[in-house]
Amino acid sequence: MERDKVLTEEIVDFSKKIGIDVIGFGDPIHFERFPKINRPNNYHENARTVIIIGLIVRDIILDAWTTDDKFGINFHFLDSILENRLFSIKDYLLERGFKSKIIPYKPGLFLKDAGAIAGIGPIGKHNLLISNEVGSQIRLRALVTEAFLETGNPITESEYCKDCEICIKVCPANAIKRDGYDRQSCLDYNLSNLKKLSKNTVIWCNICLDACPIQN
Ligand code: SF4
Ligand code: SF4
Repeated sequence: MERDKVLTEEIVDFSKKIGIDVIGFGDPIHFERFPKINRPNNYHENARTVIIIGLIVRDIILDAWTTDDKFGINFHFLDSILENRLFSIKDYLLERGFKSKIIPYKPGLFLKDAGAIAGIGPIGKHNLLISNEVGSQIRLRALVTEAFLETGNPITESEYCKDCEICIKVCPANAIKRDGYDRQSCLDYNLSNLKKLSKNTVIWCNICLDACPIQN
């Protein structure tokens, strides 16, 4: 079946109308290298396109996590807005006859890889997606649909990072190295250095993101 260029352009236009900063379309075939639980067809049996959307972190407060163990509440402000935007895209596609599923944050997809697969941009040395349009300061979410939409070309290397070591130098945990990113060191540093905004709300380390020169 041919991928639908017209519908893809309509969705791009619609995404702009509802305030989405970044959108990309990935072919599920490129997710086969990930664990089964992190593949699009784990969420939709007719997975034909993965839609990845991004919003710019315009203010650090949008990046706050609120966790209240007593009431079982755990949410991220910008992620809640992203999820809401995905519901709008889901409705838009359903009106045109295509069922979709919003992919939960966990276990979910590997969102940065999904963005690179969709051609939004490369993954930087700081292990975050760098959108070619708006830079590093974005948060992502995804939806899988049975609509055959035009997909982007996967990006595997970061041209931005070739002659840059800024994030390596500023990381207080030594988690970004020339030969790769050390997830555990990053996590350990984050968990012991959470910025507390209030009783239940924290912000994680953003030092590498703030320092990256590829910004919107
Ligand atoms: S700071 Fe430099 S090396 Fe690090 S992700 Fe940004 S561009 Fe790449
Ligand atoms: S989030 Fe903080 S600890 Fe983790 S890699 Fe970036 S600068 Fe280092």
